[in-house]
Amino acid sequence: MISEKDTICAIATGTGSAGIGIVRISGPDAVGIADRMFRGMRRLTELKSYTAAFGKLVRLADTEEVLDEAIALVMRGPHSYTTEDVVEFSCHGGMLVLRRVLDELVQAGARLAEPGEFTKRAYLGGRIDLTEAEAVMDVIAAENEHALNASLNQLRGGLRDEVSALREKLLYETAYIESALDDPENYSLDAYEDRIRPVLTEEGERISRLIADAEEGRMLRQGIRTAIVGRPNAGKSSILNLLLGEDRAIVTEIAGTTRDILEEKAVLGGVQLVLIDTAGIRETEDAVERIGVERARAALDTAELILLVIDAAERLTEEDRELFRNISGTEAPILVLLNKNDLDTVITASEVEGQLRASAEQDAVRIAGVIEISAATGEGKDTLAGAVQELFFKGMLSDSQEQYLLNTRHKEALRDALDALHRVVDSVDAGVGEDFYTIDLLAAYEALGRITGETLEDDLADKIFAEFCMGK
Ligand code: GDP
Repeated sequence: MISEKDTICAIATGTGSAGIGIVRISGPDAVGIADRMFRGMRRLTELKSYTAAFGKLVRLADTEEVLDEAIALVMRGPHSYTTEDVVEFSCHGGMLVLRRVLDELVQAGARLAEPGEFTKRAYLGGRIDLTEAEAVMDVIAAENEHALNASLNQLRGGLRDEVSALREKLLYETAYIESALDDPENYSLDAYEDRIRPVLTEEGERISRLIADAEEGRMLRQGIRTAIVGRPNAGKSSILNLLLGEDRAIVTEIAGTTRDILEEKAVLGGVQLVLIDTAGIRETEDAVERIGVERARAALDTAELILLVIDAAERLTEEDRELFRNISGTEAPILVLLNKNDLDTVITASEVEGQLRASAEQDAVRIAGVIEISAATGEGKDTLAGAVQELFFKGMLSDSQEQYLLNTRHKEALRDALDALHRVVDSVDAGVGEDFYTIDLLAAYEALGRITGETLEDDLADKIFAEFCMGK
């Protein structure tokens, strides 16, 4: 149960390379916590309400590494949005700096806000009424669902497997101890210390490595996943290069040459994108190309935005229509790019839109706009940037901030698990009874479970029954 009395923090501004980003802290200890990492002419604790101070934000370590310069705005309750004490840091840095600041605030004693929690507090404090609160929450809920999907996608791969393996071992040891305590005749705890020590060491090392990975990986994951799709030769690679401003993808005139998936980052209309160039999605006999096609399908599944590139200088082909059918089921908004606008074009926006809608079942396809563009001359790029920005501000693209918050949650959970394991080591060193181990083993198990979203009680019961209580 999350207490309403603790102090929460979150990044209050969107992604992208905007000039200023705001980190907001709210709660009874907001000023104190903010002050811990703030170095200015005056302490924040001495500031009157609605006053601002200029200073540096530092890491809470001996070295006091400076994270950013910031303006701190102190708003004391009840005259704030949440009716609690609120501090806002306006930082210069991009997302990475904001995330570091957020990390430090968590170290300093704040907790990451749940989605909508600032608004919930505003409502609980009588600052806004329920209808207003609901309106805000609806938007947040919609975004959060998307963020949750994103986090699940992240977890599809190695992290989930690794966390599951770690949990499995912890659960095994816990179940073993519990069974031995219940049934000493069949399960012995003699020299159990020697057995558990290497397990604890190994688990601790693996969790530490995951924490390090999380720190590195979070920059890479940042951005709206944007799939560039289109039939071969439509100009996908050229569009990618246009958006990147450099010749990163290989452009050729032979159809089907984009055999692998390229991922590149670009900022468009102030929004950070992770661009995924795909091979033409179509059935193919060529084994090498087929791998690319498979990956392209996977890219489509995880995409948050689709740029559909059409060669407007040629008639639509069966391949285009096949592709339309493929993407018409996806949830992500589609921006149609009528490319090669510098040539004589034979395709109109309404024609493409009509065909796309015709291939979709029940009109589900989300065409967010049709833009005439030329990868060759760069014409239309600004229009595309404007369209992306508009989608972002309308909340139609998932906000990577929330994706990040989930990542920070992962890291918090990993740290909690590591702390719990250290406590087990302490218990082993202190020579206390094995029943003490299980409390912290389970705490570590549960912390890791917060990453994979699994629950505790059922698992343990299952494990005990399945492995140790057979035939009783
Ligand atoms: P992909 O197979 O979809 O990645 O297509 P490419 O980007 O490799 O482009 C295929 C061909 O179309 C290349 O010869 C490009 O130079 C050409 N092309 C791409 N975009 C444009 C454009 O806007 N105008 C013109 N005239 N040619 C283009």
